[in-house]
Amino acid sequence: MWPYFPDLLARPVPRYTSYPPATQFTDKVNADAQAEALNSVVSGTPISLYAHIPYCQSICWYCGCNTGAAGRTQRLHAYLEALEAEMSLVAKLLGGRGKLQRIAFGGGSPNAIEPVAFVRLVDRLVTMFGGNSPDISIEIDPRAFTLEWAMTLAIAQVNRVSFGVQSFDAEIQAAIGRIQPVEMIETCMASLRARGIRSINFDLMYGLPYQTNESLLGTLDHVARMRPSRIALFGYAHLPHIFPRQKRIDAAALPGIEARFEQAAIGFERLVSEGYVPIGFDHFALPDDSLAIAAAEGKVRRNFQGFTDDQSDVLIGFGASAISQFPDRIIQNEKNPGVYRQIVGEHRLAGSRGLLRDANDRVRAARIEHLLCSGHADASCLLAEPASMASLHQLEERRLVVRDGSFIKLTEAGRPYARIVAALFDSSLPEVGAGSLAA
Ligand code: SF4
Repeated sequence: MWPYFPDLLARPVPRYTSYPPATQFTDKVNADAQAEALNSVVSGTPISLYAHIPYCQSICWYCGCNTGAAGRTQRLHAYLEALEAEMSLVAKLLGGRGKLQRIAFGGGSPNAIEPVAFVRLVDRLVTMFGGNSPDISIEIDPRAFTLEWAMTLAIAQVNRVSFGVQSFDAEIQAAIGRIQPVEMIETCMASLRARGIRSINFDLMYGLPYQTNESLLGTLDHVARMRPSRIALFGYAHLPHIFPRQKRIDAAALPGIEARFEQAAIGFERLVSEGYVPIGFDHFALPDDSLAIAAAEGKVRRNFQGFTDDQSDVLIGFGASAISQFPDRIIQNEKNPGVYRQIVGEHRLAGSRGLLRDANDRVRAARIEHLLCSGHADASCLLAEPASMASLHQLEERRLVVRDGSFIKLTEAGRPYARIVAALFDSSLPEVGAGSLAA
C-alpha cells in the first residue's frame, strides 16, 4: 500500500497535461499566434489532429468537460459545418507540409453526431491533411452506441475506442446521473471486437459518491473479465462552483481524502495483479498494447489527452475549446460553440487564448514530462536552488524520490505523488518551483 501524506495530497498542483499549464493561458496569444505557428510548420513534420464535439445525448452530473446537450439537430449540423470550415482554413495555412499521423475524436461525445456525419469528418480530415492510414481513435458514450456505430467505426478504420464507464455499481450510477448496466458495456465491446476493433479503453473513476473499496473492487471484477486493452482510473474532482451541473451530486456522500487515496491504491494494486502495466499515475495497459510497449521503450508522452504513445510535437485541435500545441506555443480555441461558429463563419481562425514557450519553459516541460511518463528526470537545475532543494529533501526523506547524481527517480511509493514531485520544476508555483533554468 502507498504511504499516505495528506499534506502533500492537499497541495493544489496542475495535472501537467501541458507545461506551462492551462492556468497560465492569456488572451494575448490568440489567432495571430496560431496562424504564425501553422505557417511555420516545416515540410514533413509529423502532426496529430484532434476534433472536439462539445455535445452529448444526455449530460452526466459529474462531468467537467466543455459539453452541452445535443438537443436540436440543426445546431449539430451548424457546428459540423463550422468544424469543416475550420479544417479547411487550417489545411490551407499548412499547405500540405504536415505528415498526418493520428486523428482523435473527443468531447463531449463524438457519437452524439450521426454515424454518416462522422464518416464525412474522417474523410474530410484525411483528404485535407493527406494522411496515409492514420491511427484513428474516438471517445464513445456507451448509452448512445448502436450497431450502426460499430459498423461505422469499422468502415472508417478506427483503431481505438474509449468508453466512459466510471463505475458498474448501480447506486453510484444513479448518484452521478449516468445509468449504464454492465450488459450494455459488454454488448458494446462484443460488437467492436467482432468487427476487428480490439484496442478498447475504459475510463473509470474513484472518489465517486457512495463509492467504497468493495464497490470499486466489484467494478474491477467486471473490468478484469472484459479485459479492455487500456484503462484510465481518474479521481473524481468535485468542483460545483466551476461546473454547476455537479451541484446535483450529494457532497455528503463523497469519500474523504484518505478514503479516496485508499481507493486509488486498491485500484492500482488490483489492476497490476490482473496483468496491466501501470503508465504514469493513472493509466494502465495490457503488455501487448502499444501504450505498454511505448512505456517499455521509454517513449510514453503526455499531452492534453493524457498519457499517450503519440510522438508528434504538433497537435492541431479543431472545434470549440480544442487546444493546439506546437513546440513553442499552445493555443486554445474559443470555448463557446456559438461564438466559435461565428468566428469560423467569418473565415477566421478560432484561437482565443494560449501562451508562448521560451527555451526555459521547454526545458521545464521536458523534465516534467519525463518525470511523469518515465519516472525520472534530470534535476541538475534544482541542485543550485536552495528552496527547491529543501522541497526535494522533504520528498527524499519520505522516500518518494531517490537521487542518483543529478537525476531524480520516483520510487513506487512516490507514484501517487508524481505531480507533487513534478511541481519542483514548475516556476509558476514559486513555493516549490525551481529557479531559472540556465539552458
Ligand atoms: S457523456 Fe462524457 S462528456 Fe458527455 S456529459 Fe457524460 S461524462 Fe460528460
